[in-house]
Amino acid sequence: MIQLKMYINGEWVNAQSEKTRDIVNPANGQVIAQAAEGDVEDARIAIQVAREAFDSGEWSDMPAVQRAGYLFAIANKLEERADEISRLETEDNGKPLRETQFDVADAAACFRYYAGMATKPDGQTYHVADPMQAMVVREPVGVCGLIVPWNYPLLMAVWKIAPALAAGNTIVFKPSEVTPVTAVKLFEIIEEVGIPKGVANLIMGAGATVGNELAESHFVDKVSFTGGTATGRSIMKAATGNIKKISLELGGKSPNIVFADADFETAVDYALFGIFANQGQVCSAGSRLLLQDSIYDRFIERLVERASKIRVGPGDDPSTEMGPLVSEVHMRKVLNYIEIGKQEGAKLVCGGNRITHNGLENGYFVEPTIFIDTTPEMRIVQEEIFGPVLAVQKFTDEAEAIQLANNTVYGLAGGVFTQDGAKAMRVIKKLRAGITWINSYHPTYNEAPWGGYKQSGIGRGLGTFGYDEFTEVKQININLQVGPVGWFEN
Ligand code: NAD
Repeated sequence: MIQLKMYINGEWVNAQSEKTRDIVNPANGQVIAQAAEGDVEDARIAIQVAREAFDSGEWSDMPAVQRAGYLFAIANKLEERADEISRLETEDNGKPLRETQFDVADAAACFRYYAGMATKPDGQTYHVADPMQAMVVREPVGVCGLIVPWNYPLLMAVWKIAPALAAGNTIVFKPSEVTPVTAVKLFEIIEEVGIPKGVANLIMGAGATVGNELAESHFVDKVSFTGGTATGRSIMKAATGNIKKISLELGGKSPNIVFADADFETAVDYALFGIFANQGQVCSAGSRLLLQDSIYDRFIERLVERASKIRVGPGDDPSTEMGPLVSEVHMRKVLNYIEIGKQEGAKLVCGGNRITHNGLENGYFVEPTIFIDTTPEMRIVQEEIFGPVLAVQKFTDEAEAIQLANNTVYGLAGGVFTQDGAKAMRVIKKLRAGITWINSYHPTYNEAPWGGYKQSGIGRGLGTFGYDEFTEVKQININLQVGPVGWFEN
C-alpha cells in the first residue's frame, strides 16, 4: 500500500490529526494508497511556511536563470520517471495509459516553457515629460494557493506550479482529494532537484476545509483555482477578506457546431473525440453537438455506429480507448444525469448504462452515451455533466447555430466544422468562448492562453497570459534631475 504524505517546509509529514483517506483505483474499486488527510490546521502551517519563504526573498530574489535551472531539472526528472508516473496516474484516475503518457510529456514541456519564460524580458519604459523616466517591472504576487481538480491531476498541477514558481512566488498546492498520487511524485522531484525548503508545499485534504483555508487566509496573496463553477463561486466569496487576487478556470458546456458543408468523416471523428476523450471528463469537452438539419440523420447514424464500437476497459490495457469514470460518486452523478435526460424527453440513441460485464463490474464504467432531439432548456443541454454523455441539437442556419451555441451560462470552448473559411471565422467571432477550434477539437498548447468567458472563469492559464497572472505590475518613476517640485511658494 502506498502511503502519501504532505510536503511542508521540505519535510514529508502526516496530517496533525494522523487521519488518512483511502485512494481508490476506479477500474476495480481497490484501495491503492492512503493519503494524509490534512485539515485547516495543516493548511495554516503550510501557508505560514510559504509566507516566511516568500518574505525571506530567497526564491523571489534569486536570479531568474537560477530559478529556471530548477524548472528545467524538474522537466528532465519527469521524463526520466515518465513510465512510473503515467502508470500511477492511470491507477489513480482511471484514464487510459496513452492519455497519461501524453500528460506526463506535456507536463515536462510546460515546465520547460515556463523555465524559458523566467529569463525573458518583461518590463516596459515610457517616454514621459522630462525630467522623469517612467517604467514598469513585473514582480511575483507572493504566496499562491493552487487548487486543482481530478480530471488531469498531474497536468492541472503543472499548469499552475510551473508559472507560479518561474515568476518567483512561493506556493501551497492542493490536489483533488480523489487523485493525489502523482502530485506526491511531482513533489518528490521538487525535493530531489533541491528547490529551497518552504518554497513549494503540498497539502492534501477536503476542499471545504483545506481548500477553503487557502481561499480565506490573509497570508495568501493569490488563489489560482481550477474546478467546478459552484466551487469557484465559493472561492471568490472566501477571497474577499484580504482582496486576494484570483484566477478561476471553471466548468463548461461547449458547443461543437457542424455545418452541412463540413468534411463529413472528419467532423464525425472530432465529435467523438470532443466528448469521449478522457471519458468526457474534460472542462472543454464538446458536450453539445450542434448539427445542421440537412445532415442530422446521416451524421447521427454514423456517430452512433462509431460510438458503440469504442473499446471501454481498464486504463492499463493498451487496447482500451475509454476508461472508467474517476470515482463511484462521480459515476452516480453521471448516471443520474442520464436518467434526467430520459425524463426530460430527450431520445437516447446510444449507451446510457453502467457497464457491469467482462470483468468491469467492480469499476466505474459508463457506456458512451448520446441523446438526440434535445431542446435548449433541458438540463442535459444546460448543465455540465462531465462524463461521456453527448447532447445533440439541431439548427437550420448560421444565425440559429450561433444563438444556440451561446445559450448557456458557460463560455469555455467551442468548435466549428465547415469548409467555408469565411463562415468559420464569422461563427468563431460570435462565439462567447475563450478557446475555439476550426475543423478540429481539443488540441491545446502550453504557448496559448486557456480560460473562459462568462461563468467559465476569470483570467487565463498557460502562455504569457498565464505567467502574467502570477505577477504584479509595479510602476517606477525616476526623477532624472533631482530638485524641489516647487508647488508651494513658502
Ligand atoms: P471541484 O470544484 O469539486 O474541486 C476542485 C478542487 O477544489 C478540488 O481540489 C477540491 O478539493 C477543491 N474544493 C472543493 N470545494 C472547495 C472549497 N469550498 N474551497 C476551496 N477548494 C475547494 O471540481 P472537480 O469535481 O474536482 O473537477 C471537475 C470540475 O473541474 C468540472 O466542473 C470541470 O469543468 C472543472 N475543470 C475546469 C478546467 C478549466 O481549465 N476550466 C479544467 C479541468 C476541470
